[in-house]
Amino acid sequence: MEHKIAAFLRDLNTWLEFQVEMGAPGVPEGPGIRALLNRDDPDRAWLDMIGRTPDLVSLSDAVRGCTRCPLHAGRNKVVFGQGDPKARLMVVGEAPGRLEDLKGLPFIGRSGDLLTKMLQAIQISRREVFITSVIKCRPPQNRTPSSAEISACSPVLFQQIKIIAPRLILALGQVAAQVILNSRARLRDLRGKIHDVGNLKVIATYHPAFLLRFRGAAQKAYKREAWKDLQILKRLYDEEPHDTHAE
Ligand code: SF4
Repeated sequence: MEHKIAAFLRDLNTWLEFQVEMGAPGVPEGPGIRALLNRDDPDRAWLDMIGRTPDLVSLSDAVRGCTRCPLHAGRNKVVFGQGDPKARLMVVGEAPGRLEDLKGLPFIGRSGDLLTKMLQAIQISRREVFITSVIKCRPPQNRTPSSAEISACSPVLFQQIKIIAPRLILALGQVAAQVILNSRARLRDLRGKIHDVGNLKVIATYHPAFLLRFRGAAQKAYKREAWKDLQILKRLYDEEPHDTHAE
């Protein structure tokens, strides 16, 4: 129980720091609350080191040899992410699959092809976005990552978001949506709407790998829902000034 409380506090602290970084008002700090959130965190030095990386290259270097969770044991390559380091839009999936693990690149293979098509359908190319995932090492048999693995790896994602400073995030699948929104809600309740996280807008939709699991009418129905989400994303994307990072 003590371990669970410590993990909960660590996740909460990571999320609160992320919120503040994204422009949300500061967290009200009662007497000792910051000390409580930070207490007994054996990974504080690692988190501080990750939090100080000023760019994607140094963050990627810091993560390359990461052994912070058991997934490091089975990986071939850390899949850090790929794309425009100043992208207005970040696309975040769940975790690398077999091909991604071998190549060290995100969203390749069938799932990656579908993602490319989804973006192309709203006139966005992969080159202009940054694509990554919550978890940077492949879970065995592509299983869903555990909450401990998510907790261990999500500070890297939050630091990527901080460095890239996108205006929009497309969260693919329930895991990505829950982590970015700090929610336990089901994907069906998170998709179809715009979420504000500080100055950031987040749209959640189905993961391409999920869409590929179905055939026929079921696949069409899910793709129709995803298309509605992409339309929301496209509207927001077009509303964003194109020179955000040149200011
Ligand atoms: S999944 Fe993340 S936390 Fe775990 S070993 Fe890989 S990079 Fe480190």
